Amino acid sequence: MLIGAHALVFTGTFDESGVRNAIERTKAAGFDLIEIPLMDPDHFDSSMAAHILRDNDLAVTASLGLTEHTDLSSTDPSIVARGESELEKCLDHVATMGGDTLCGVIYSAMRKYPAPPTEAGTAASAAAIDRVARKAAERGIRLSLEVVNRYESNVFNTARGAVTYLDRLRSDNVSVHLDTYHMNIEESDQFGAVLDAGDRLGYVHIGESHRGYLGSGTVDFDGFFRGLARIGYDGPVVFESFSSAVVNADLSNTLAIWRNLWEDSDDLAAHANRFIRDRIHGVDSIAMH
Ligand code: MN
Repeated sequence: MLIGAHALVFTGTFDESGVRNAIERTKAAGFDLIEIPLMDPDHFDSSMAAHILRDNDLAVTASLGLTEHTDLSSTDPSIVARGESELEKCLDHVATMGGDTLCGVIYSAMRKYPAPPTEAGTAASAAAIDRVARKAAERGIRLSLEVVNRYESNVFNTARGAVTYLDRLRSDNVSVHLDTYHMNIEESDQFGAVLDAGDRLGYVHIGESHRGYLGSGTVDFDGFFRGLARIGYDGPVVFESFSSAVVNADLSNTLAIWRNLWEDSDDLAAHANRFIRDRIHGVDSIAMH
C-alpha cells in the first residue's frame, strides 16, 4: 500500500522549481508517492518531472478535474471530444512519468451544476470513459473516478452512485476513487461507504472536513480505515489538504479555498504521514481478530 501526498500541499505552480519543491518535500515528509494535478496538460513537462521523481525514488499518480469546456457528461459531442483529447494528453504525461493511475473528476466537469444529471449526459460520460479507458490500458494505466460532493459534480455523489455508474462500463481498468472530505458531506457513514465501494475501490484521498490538519475536524477516520481493512484495500492512500498558504489559480478557486488552515506545509505533511500510517497499522490487526 503506497501512502502519498497531493502536490498542492507544497506548491501551486508546476514549472521545474515547483515540481522539484513538491517532490523533494513529499519525500522528506516520509511519503512513498506524490499525486500531481494536471490542470494544464499543455504546459506540463512530464519528462522533467520523471527525472526528479527518479532522483527521489518517489512513485507518482496524476489527477485532474475537467471544466465546462471539457465536460464528458455534456450532450454537446464537441465538448466531450475536447475532454477526451485533454485526458489523452494526461495519459501521456502519466506514462512518461512512469505512473499507472489517472484519477479525479475525469467523468464530468468539476463544478456546481445548476440542474440534476440527465440520462443522455451520463450515457455520454460513460461512453467517453470507456474510450479513454481503452487508451489508458494501451499505456498500462488505470482510471479511478473520484466521488465528489454535490457542489462539485452531479453525475454521482456517493460510493453506491459510482458503482452504479461503473456497472454501465465495459472497461475493467476503471475503479472508484473515494475521498473522506466528500464522503463526510454525502455518505451516511464512512465505514459503510467503503464497504459499498468494496472491490471496486481503487484510489483513496484522505482529507479532513475543512481540508486542514487530519484529526482537527469532523471526519470519522476510525470508521474509514476500519472499512479499508475489512475490504482488504491495498491501493494508493493519498493525503489531500488545501490552504490559502499555497495557491493554484485553477484549483484553489474551483475548490473554494478561501481560508488559511495552515502555514507550514512540511509540518502538516509529516503529521499526515504519521496519522495515516498509524491508523493503517492499527487496523491491520483486525485480520487477526
Ligand atoms: Mn479529493
